[in-house]
Amino acid sequence: VPIADLLRRPAGIIGSANSAGHPDIPLPADLYRPQRENSHGIEFGERAALDRLTAAITAQRQAEPDAVASSTTDEANAAVAAARRGFKAWNATPAGRRAEILDKAADMLEQRRAHLIALLQGEGGKTLDDALSEVREATDFCRYYAALGRKLFGGSETMPGPTGESNVLALRGRGTFVAISPWNFPLAIFLGQVTAALMAGNAVVAKPAEQTPRIATEAIRLLHEAGVPASALHLVQGDGAVGAALVAHPDIAGVVFTGSTDVARSINRTLAAKDGPIVPLIAETGGINAMIVDATALPEQVADDVVTSAFRSAGQRCSALRLLFVQDDVADRMIEMIAGAARELKIGDPSDLSTHVGPVIDAEAKQRLDAHIALMKRNARVHFEGRAPAGNFVAPHIFELSHAGQLTEEVFGPILHVVRYRAERLADVLAAIEATGFGLTLGIHSRIEDTVDDVIDRLAVGNIYVNRNMIGAVVGVQPFGGSGLSGTGPKAGGPHYLARFATEQTVTINT
Ligand code: NAP
Repeated sequence: VPIADLLRRPAGIIGSANSAGHPDIPLPADLYRPQRENSHGIEFGERAALDRLTAAITAQRQAEPDAVASSTTDEANAAVAAARRGFKAWNATPAGRRAEILDKAADMLEQRRAHLIALLQGEGGKTLDDALSEVREATDFCRYYAALGRKLFGGSETMPGPTGESNVLALRGRGTFVAISPWNFPLAIFLGQVTAALMAGNAVVAKPAEQTPRIATEAIRLLHEAGVPASALHLVQGDGAVGAALVAHPDIAGVVFTGSTDVARSINRTLAAKDGPIVPLIAETGGINAMIVDATALPEQVADDVVTSAFRSAGQRCSALRLLFVQDDVADRMIEMIAGAARELKIGDPSDLSTHVGPVIDAEAKQRLDAHIALMKRNARVHFEGRAPAGNFVAPHIFELSHAGQLTEEVFGPILHVVRYRAERLADVLAAIEATGFGLTLGIHSRIEDTVDDVIDRLAVGNIYVNRNMIGAVVGVQPFGGSGLSGTGPKAGGPHYLARFATEQTVTINT
């Protein structure tokens, strides 16, 4: 659909897509249907059990913070060796069977939803809404990659045979994939990486973030129970040093990494310096994500979308809005409305249904964010300062910068930076966004078709959202991933993702 036609639709129709309920978008019926249940589909009885479970997990985590032991380097090496042994049989398993296992895993994720939500709340600090969306996203990944995998890996493709020879092209697993994931989507991203690599026929050694080992353990147990052979899927726990040891191992065939740009760079350096086969890296990293709001935007919608994009999940989404450019004619009113909407947010216990903003992941993250807030208080104009309870909570803040260059790195929390621009200087705004070097998400609020088209044409950003919020990409609907400092470009939840995990083989037969 041309962008111009979308812009002509009334506000709201293109405005509500996210994992917790999106509009009826026609999808190829034979492929897959993402879940579209209302976000409060939790039964009352289930809620009470859920609260008890969350409290138990939180208490256990506090009583025994180191209950999940870190793997040693020897154990990490042993996991790679075992995966290497398991690869052949798994790669030879028909794609239909691999897909069947992923579909079974999706069913099991739904059956164990309450337990997984409790883990996401208790270990990951997720609000109920976010935890529910995350279980759905993980389920969607399993079903989508299963459906896609059946098509891509189910047989070989016949190529033309102009010389009388027969030519076929087939996709196969590469070998052992190392999957390294962050704490902010400890179930969905973790499982998304692992299931994509498995569907493509690879054996996998997964290393989750050190902050979320219990969720990862549960996810791997579930995949094994669904039918992934133990020899093809291994879990290694621990910090970045364990991840670095896996990446440096001589017998790995690929790395899929989601996390910070700095760590992606260090992985890239390690891979480049190794002898032996050339090992591909799929990297999905961060961003200094911007939104542009011009004078034609609808103020109420902007306020809602900005608050959702900047503060939901305590700003701990890679897609979250960090830098808001507002046309100066409307800036005072827009900022006032955004601050008003931010004032309504409830910050606190993530298991409380009415909470909008839960804690940040740990004390270290809070310290970093507090330091940034202190810096901004000295160097920027404060428009809004929320109040947070004691603990690892960071209240939403809104600061106005004199120029975008004041924000030099990704600030991973509920802190919004606003910059005013004059309509005739939109080109400077685009240059400032380009100058960040990132290209993950971008929001545009404008009813002027030419403006929207120009911005889309000019900026190399992976996911662009027009007249809506800029978070919550839906698997199979909004393939997700960025370029530049934001990653190597593959789109998780998109039709080309699985091929990145595969090697291609052409066979020519002289008949
Ligand atoms: P991070 O510090 O880069 O860590 C990510 C993973 O890498 C963790 O498992 C970490 O282990 C591991 N690691 C750290 N150093 C390593 C090394 N030298 N070699 C191998 N692995 C190493 O990122 P994070 O703080 O967990 O996550 C937040 C970042 O992820 C943000 O920048 C966010 O934008 C990005 N992100 C991007 C996407 C996307 O799709 N583009 C999605 C979500 C998050 P430990 O945790 O044990 O240290």
